Amino acid sequence: MHVLVTGGAGFIGSNYVRRTLENHYGTGHATVTVLDKLTYAGNRANLAPFADNPLLRFVQGDIGDAQLLTRLLPSVDAVVNFAAESHVDRSIDSAAEFVATNVAGTQTLLQAALDAGVPRFVHVSTDEVYGSIDTGSWTEEWPLEPNSPYAATKAGADLMVRAYARTHRMNVSITRCSNNYGPYQFPEKVVPLFVTSLMQGATVPLYGDGLNIRDWLHVDDHCRGIQLVLERGAPGEIYHIGGGQELTNRELTERILQALGSDWSSVRQVADRKGHDRRYSLDDSKLRALGYRPEVPFEEGLATTVAWYRDNTDWWQPITAAAA
Ligand code: NAD
Repeated sequence: MHVLVTGGAGFIGSNYVRRTLENHYGTGHATVTVLDKLTYAGNRANLAPFADNPLLRFVQGDIGDAQLLTRLLPSVDAVVNFAAESHVDRSIDSAAEFVATNVAGTQTLLQAALDAGVPRFVHVSTDEVYGSIDTGSWTEEWPLEPNSPYAATKAGADLMVRAYARTHRMNVSITRCSNNYGPYQFPEKVVPLFVTSLMQGATVPLYGDGLNIRDWLHVDDHCRGIQLVLERGAPGEIYHIGGGQELTNRELTERILQALGSDWSSVRQVADRKGHDRRYSLDDSKLRALGYRPEVPFEEGLATTVAWYRDNTDWWQPITAAAA
C-alpha cells in the first residue's frame, strides 16, 4: 500500500502520517509520500519523529503542479488530500490563495489521479461548507451555503470532487469534519493560540459575545474517521466526522483558562469576526454505521494537548516569535 498524503506537513495531515507510520490503522508497512508546499502552515518538524523512516518520502511541491503529479502518482494506491489554505481569518483578508489551492489545486490533483488510474481518493473537507445552523444537525444531503471565503473554496472543491465521481466514476469520497484540536496545530487557531499566549503571560482575544458554538474533536478521532472512509467508504459518498464536544467559545475559553490556571482577567473581548457563523453541528450517523466512534473525551484531549504545548516549546516558540 502506497499512500500519497497532500498537506502532510500540516496539523491534521501530519497526525495522519504519524499514525499511519506507527501502524495505528493496522496498515502494516504502508509507504507514505507526503506532498506539501510548506506554506507558513507547513512544518517539516511535524514529521521529525519519522525523518529517517524508510517508509516515508517527503516531496516539497504544490498540488496544483500537474507535471510533478504526473511523476508522483503512477505508483500510488490512494490519495488523501489534506492540502489547503485553512484559516478563515486569512481568507477574509485575502482569498486568492484559497481559490488557487483549495479549488484549482484540488481539481488538478483529481485530474492527475484520474489520468494515473489511482484506485482510491479521499478528499478532506469541513462542516463549514454548510454555513451556520441554529438548531439540529446537518446531514450529508444538506445544501451548501458557505459564508466565509475559506468555506466557499472548500465547498467549490467538494463540488469538483462530486463532479469527478459522477462524470468519471472516480473512486473518491469526501469527509467533512468539525473543529479539530490537538498537538502540532499552528498557533493561529483558537486552541493553540490561547494555550501558547497564556503560557507566555499574554491576554487572549475572544470574538464578539463569545456565544458562537463549535463541536470540538480530537485530531486522532478525525484521522481514524478518515482512515475508515479510505478503507470502507463508497465512491462518490460524503461522510461526516464529528461527535466531539459542543461548546460556546466562552465555554471553550473557560476550559482552557482552567487548564492553564488562569482566569478571565487574561481575556480581552474583541470585535466579532466578519460574517461569523453562529453554530456548526454534524449528524455523523452515516459514519457511525461503519463503526466510527470518537474515542478521546474532550477533558482528556485538552489536558494532553496543553501538556504537549508545555513540553514542546521548541516547536511553537520560533513560530510565535516570528509572528510577533
Ligand atoms: P494546516 O493549515 O495546518 O495544513 C495545511 C497544509 O497544507 C500545510 O502543511 C501546507 O503547507 C499545505 N499546503 C497548502 N497549500 C498547499 C498546496 N498548494 N500544495 C501542497 N500543500 C499545500 O491545515 P489543517 O488544519 O491540518 O487542515 C487540513 C485539512 O483539513 C484542510 O483541508 C482543512 O480544510 C480540513 N479541515 C480542518 C479542520 C480543522 O479544525 N483544522 C476541520 C475540518 C477540516
